[in-house]
Amino acid sequence: MIVAVASGKGGTGKTTVSVNLAKVCGFPVQLLDCDVEEPNAHLFLTGELRGEETVAIPVPQVDESLCDGCGECGRFCEYHAIVSFGASPLVFPEMCHGCGGCAKVCPKSAIRETDRRIGVVETLEADNVLLLQGRLDVGEAMASPVIRAVKSRLRAGTPAILDAPPGTSCPVIATLRGTDFVVLVTEPTPFGLHDLKLAVDMVRELRIPFGVVVNRMGIGDERVHMFCARQGIPILIEIPEDRRIAEAYSRGTLLVDTLPEYRGIFQVLVEKTMNRQNAAGVCAMPSCDYEYET
Ligand code: SF4
Ligand code: SF4
Repeated sequence: MIVAVASGKGGTGKTTVSVNLAKVCGFPVQLLDCDVEEPNAHLFLTGELRGEETVAIPVPQVDESLCDGCGECGRFCEYHAIVSFGASPLVFPEMCHGCGGCAKVCPKSAIRETDRRIGVVETLEADNVLLLQGRLDVGEAMASPVIRAVKSRLRAGTPAILDAPPGTSCPVIATLRGTDFVVLVTEPTPFGLHDLKLAVDMVRELRIPFGVVVNRMGIGDERVHMFCARQGIPILIEIPEDRRIAEAYSRGTLLVDTLPEYRGIFQVLVEKTMNRQNAAGVCAMPSCDYEYET
């Protein structure tokens, strides 16, 4: 079972939900921090760093002795990362997505690829949680290859929780693809509702079953609940507005450890997400008819 935790905007409590869900599972679980521009799940886990692996993408290098300046490579690259003005092309490595297309279309076989580092994947073990954390290098813009590198290290047979980047852009899509269920975290405010609607459209487009966690329950109004009721979207749990939760977060401590009275809420979330596939391989959520691939 692979569960992604996402939100239409940052600051809704996505990481709080991810790390506390992982901690209360009670069985070995993988936690993948795919928010590679600012990974922070490790701040809440006390464990040992087990390793660090470099993530690189292949970028073109032109052999000027073979190039005749035909410009095919530049015409192919939709990112304008390689440009030719009738001479040997210029390469802009920071804009290259590493697709390899320019090398394939070069009629002179003048392009070979070299690896360019863009980040790392770190591994940390803390009790029942194996944390795989992507970290994009400062100044780099290609988050998606680092996210794919994190996901490629998923170990089959062990449940996983993916902490997605905020928003609905390409890195979020790269995180959600291939997951079994998405938890959308929101706040019961007009801003929260606006961003929740965008996130709902996104997961529906991806055809992944999902439910909503309402964080900071007690602020705002009823519009998020009314929207979910109208749309038939299950509300999985509600986390109350509680100053002590914010204090625990600011200290980098786990909510379920600092305030044990909240363990029950997260255990309900485990039941509704990690343990939700029934024997028939059909989603156990009452309002969902998603069928798992077997
Ligand atoms: S590898 Fe792809 S993205 Fe990079 S320069 Fe070549 S065509 Fe453009
Ligand atoms: S496609 Fe090959 S030969 Fe043509 S300009 Fe690019 S590198 Fe040179």
